[in-house]
Amino acid sequence: MKFSKLFLKTLKENPKDAEVISHKLLTRAGMIKRLSSGVYSYLPLGYRVLKKIQNIVREELEKAGAQEVHMPVLQPAELWMESGRWEKMGAEMMRLKDRHDKDYLLGPTHEEVITDIVRKEINSYKDLPVNLYQIQTKFRDERRPRFALMRGREFLMKDGYSFHTNEASLEEEYQKMHKAYNRIFTRCGLIFRAVEADSGNIGGDITHEIMVLAESGEDEVIYCDSCDYAANIEKAESNISMENSTDIDELEMKLVDTPNKQTIAEVSEFLKKQESDTLKALIYKVDEEFYMVLIRGDYDINEIKLKNRLNATEVEQATDEDIEKLGLKKGYIGPVGITNIKIIADKTVKSLKNYISGGNVKDKHYINVNHNRDYKLDEFFDIRKVKLGEGCPRCESGKLNSARGIEVGQIFKLGRKYTEALNCTYLNEEGKTNHMIMGCYGIGVSRTMAAAIEQNNDENGIIWPMSIAPYHVIIIPANVKDDEQMRVANTIYDKMKKENIEVVLDDRDERPGFKFKDADLIGFPIKIVVGKGVTAGKVELKFRSEDDKIEIEIENIIKYTKDRIAEKL
Ligand code: ATP
Ligand code: MG
Repeated sequence: MKFSKLFLKTLKENPKDAEVISHKLLTRAGMIKRLSSGVYSYLPLGYRVLKKIQNIVREELEKAGAQEVHMPVLQPAELWMESGRWEKMGAEMMRLKDRHDKDYLLGPTHEEVITDIVRKEINSYKDLPVNLYQIQTKFRDERRPRFALMRGREFLMKDGYSFHTNEASLEEEYQKMHKAYNRIFTRCGLIFRAVEADSGNIGGDITHEIMVLAESGEDEVIYCDSCDYAANIEKAESNISMENSTDIDELEMKLVDTPNKQTIAEVSEFLKKQESDTLKALIYKVDEEFYMVLIRGDYDINEIKLKNRLNATEVEQATDEDIEKLGLKKGYIGPVGITNIKIIADKTVKSLKNYISGGNVKDKHYINVNHNRDYKLDEFFDIRKVKLGEGCPRCESGKLNSARGIEVGQIFKLGRKYTEALNCTYLNEEGKTNHMIMGCYGIGVSRTMAAAIEQNNDENGIIWPMSIAPYHVIIIPANVKDDEQMRVANTIYDKMKKENIEVVLDDRDERPGFKFKDADLIGFPIKIVVGKGVTAGKVELKFRSEDDKIEIEIENIIKYTKDRIAEKL
């Protein structure tokens, strides 16, 4: 490709709404173009990258025995009513009506459609297991679309689904997919980690997310500094020692003055107690119902765990107005005497004795509160956010640490959630009808493109891993007015094209510095500069990822380049 013919305009300025480096560089390097919030076009260079990621995904999945299908984006609401997700998906689902006023949606994922296909096509255990995947545009009306390709409202996903007769077969496929994912992301040049995760709306129990480690990641990954335990903070557990207080006597509960003391810190200081002697009581709105959520004062609630525990669609903290309406006093909320809302408590509350809690009147707190004497609690749940430095839940000695991660993929053991809802069955060897067991496997193809940039960039631009670079080589004649330089540049270009090397010739009549800037911004892995050295039979080669330049004899340049590309693919 000749640069002068490329449909490309690089930009000096970052887009105003860009917060992360991939958004800035993808836009400045002319790879994507915004249409509206969370909706982007891919321009030629960007689309080449996207296709390369797709090819890697396809190659590895086909190798692992999965078969590609292509399912509709436009889906009838009925199917989602059958699974119960027409309501459950909430505002994230893009809904529409056809001319007959029938409800449709634009697929945010495809469990329903694939299960519908499989229930119609497969009858016998003889046809199982099967693993089908597609690479398809997905639609999710995200609450906060941002970071361009990282969190779009329209984005490209690889979604795969496997169907089995038994758990062992699902486990085998899960491991196979895990390995395929390792190969895919390694080939994409990424540094990543598989972490235990929350299964969210998709359902199922066992799930791992593949996290690309990067500062800009929206997820927090908790990992052990000693063993290989790693989990999304949404799911992470820890080992905390809760002192056993059963032998402490219960003291008499009293309402005491705490003028203007509202926070845990203020109250505990005022009453000369530790924060761990207090009870934190928060009001949450859980799918339109209010809950009082209790945890020991020095800990925080993990809203995802709470949401899962209550099997809810939306969980959010109540507003000041809501609190007022419930007859509660912000800053003085506590469980004693509460009858109009449900109460749920974290495990850390269990071993508390004689603690401080809100008095439900302004400027007052209770001291010496004890559950099941002063108010009732039947059960305790893990709804706590772990803290750094706490003990690893898996090994003896490890401490928990944290890093930021971008979720590029996720694998789930779904079990029978969808096959039961949609009655997807097969006949077993005895001729009995059973529900199939399902796995599902996603990759954010477009997000992976952004993640690759988050991990591979410098102040001058993108540093594409060879495997997904839009082109491998750029040839820059230093002076396009110099006939000899142009002749050599053109010869190398022609030979490279014959050798199927992906190459761009920067034939534009611009200063060399200007062209170097563009080459660095776009991130071609190899830059060949044809300059004054041609008189001595030499050109200069530089890898985008390295500092040094190498002088190479013109007659060796093709083989040298080809070998280096092959090494890095
Ligand atoms: P997230 O937690 O980031 O919202 P998710 O858990 O909802 O993602 P999945 O349903 O597991 O996502 O989808 C599979 C993959 O699709 C994710 O691992 C992620 O890489 C990608 N993905 C999900 N939502 C988006 C989005 N809005 N924009 C781009 N990629 C996305
Ligand atoms: Mg996910």
